[in-house]
Order: sequence, then structure tokens, then C-alpha cells
Amino acid sequence: YKAKEHKNSYVIFSKAIYGNTKEIVQIETELRQAIAREEFSLVYQPKINSKTNKIVGVEALIRWYNLKLGFVSPEKFIKIAEKSGIINDIGEYVIKQAQKDIKEVWAQTNEEFTLSVNVSPRQLVSIKEMNRFKKLILNSNFPNDKFMIEITENIFLGDVKGIILFLNTIKSYNISISLDDFGTGYSSLSILSKLPISELKIDKSFIHDMFLNEENMKLVKSIVNIGKDINLEVVAEGVEEQNELKLLESFGCNIYQGYYFSKPLSKEELIEFIKNKI
Ligand code: C2E
Ligand code: MG
Ligand code: MG
Ligand code: MG
Repeated sequence: YKAKEHKNSYVIFSKAIYGNTKEIVQIETELRQAIAREEFSLVYQPKINSKTNKIVGVEALIRWYNLKLGFVSPEKFIKIAEKSGIINDIGEYVIKQAQKDIKEVWAQTNEEFTLSVNVSPRQLVSIKEMNRFKKLILNSNFPNDKFMIEITENIFLGDVKGIILFLNTIKSYNISISLDDFGTGYSSLSILSKLPISELKIDKSFIHDMFLNEENMKLVKSIVNIGKDINLEVVAEGVEEQNELKLLESFGCNIYQGYYFSKPLSKEELIEFIKNKI
């Protein structure tokens, strides 16, 4: 399946996002040093319940500043980190740092909410990686029932049975699983009933196009309904405008992540954001 995975990602990423070969090689070279040089940082974007106006969780999002390259967006470097395998070390950094930061935020605000981190398919590609991931989680002293991992449909380019088994194990630890970027992948709706997920994130591309494209609006409405019917929390990602929020609320969506409520924030900004809400 390896060849297939590479072929697919090549088709999708080679031109627009992936850049030219020289650039990729340079990014990869710099990425290998980035953890040791402490070039990564994390920001946290709140997930808000619009009914209570309360923060129900945050998603950790990685940022990379390199002296030669400047700021490089995760859309660009995560793909390269995945192909080269560096993502496994990056993933470990993200979980450790995010858990440490969020415990500090809880302590300073007297609020507890869920922490979500993005997990690449490559981090769960074989038994070896899955075991590394399990060990990392079991050795952390962050409460499992406040921890959530975000996966995408791309995870099923790998060993589907093995992944489902792994996700069930994760769930048995009381860790929650979210299906991110929903609607952009290849999988069919039936995957929803096979996966031990508790949250569905509607991709921001659908949210943006709701008012431009009636089909997209209907699609979003259907996703919200399906999610509710099978008891999933539905999160609308990328909400920027009040009219988007109002429409989504009329569909019955309650949880939002987007610039309308907040951009991704540093740990210090997050503490301020929460204190101002209380
Ligand atoms: P994602 O997991 O779907 O994260 C949501 C992205 O949407 C973030 O982009 C966030 O900043 C952006 N966003 C949120 N609200 C809005 C909005 O209202 N308008 C617009 N235009 N954008 C909004 P970001 O931080 O650039 O991350 C992009 C992607 O990179 C993420 O998409 C995720 O797939 C990946 N990524 C980020 N951090 C990590 C990480 O630590 N590990 C892994 N494996 N992937 C990561
Ligand atoms: Mg995500
Ligand atoms: Mg997403
Ligand atoms: Mg996305």
C-alpha cells in the first residue's frame, strides 16, 4: 500500500502546496534540526459552545520559525515531515508540550476543558509506531478523559483493520477521537459507524462556501443531522462570519472553532481569553 500512498500524495501535493524539489530538500534538512534548535511552538484555538459561550476545548496547532526559511506553514511542512518520518518526533513534541501547557492554563484559570492534538496517519502506520504512540500516552500524567486526538480519513490509506483496533484501544483508555476535515477525503459514510469516534469536524472549505453554493449548504446541514443522529458532537471549523454562525445554529450545530470566536492563541493569550470570558 506504500506505493499507493506515495502516489496519491504526489498527485495532490506536488504542484501547489508541496513546492519544488530543491525547496522540499531544504525544508526537510531544516526540519531535522528543528526540535533540537527549539524552533517549534504551539498555539491553541478555542472550541466554543455558542449556547453557553463557554470554551469546551482547544486544538493545539504547531508553528515553525526557522532562521533561513522564516515562518513555514504547517500545511506545507507537515506533509514533508510525514514523508520523511520526522513527524513521529514532532508528534511526540506536540503531545508533551501541549499537555504541559494546558495543565498550566487549567491551573491559572480554574477551568478544565479538552485538549485536542492532530495525529498524522504516519504516526500510526505500523505496530511499531502505534506502540510508540501508546507508550507516550500511557506515560503522560495528563487526564485521559480530557485528551482527544484528531485523525483524518487519510488514516485509512493504511492497514484499516489494524487502525480500527488501535483506535478502540485508545478509546478504552478514555481518550476521545475526532474525525477532522470531514467531507474532504475518500471514505464513505459507512466509515462513521465503524469508528469509535465521538466528534466530527466539518471542514472549513464547506463552511466558507455555504453562501456561495447551495449544494454545500445542504451538505453541511446533512452532516450536522447525521452527526446528531449517531450521537457525535459536530464541530464547525473555520467559522468567520456571524451569518455563518446563525445558519449553522439553525441546523442544530453547537460547537464552533473559527476566527469569529478566536484565532489560535499562545498559552498566555489563551489564559487571558478565558479570564475575560468568566
Ligand atoms: P486542521 O487540523 O484542520 O486545523 C484547522 C486549521 O484551520 C488551522 O490551520 C487553523 O488555524 C485554521 N482555521 C481555524 N479557524 C479558521 C478560520 O476561521 N478561518 C481560516 N481561514 N482558517 C481557520 P493551521 O494552524 O495552519 O494548520 C493547518 C493544518 O496543519 C491543520 O489543519 C492540520 O492538518 C495540520 N497541523 C497543524 N498542527 C499540527 C500538528 O501538531 N500535527 C499534525 N500532524 N498536523 C498539524
Ligand atoms: Mg485538526
Ligand atoms: Mg480540520
Ligand atoms: Mg484542515
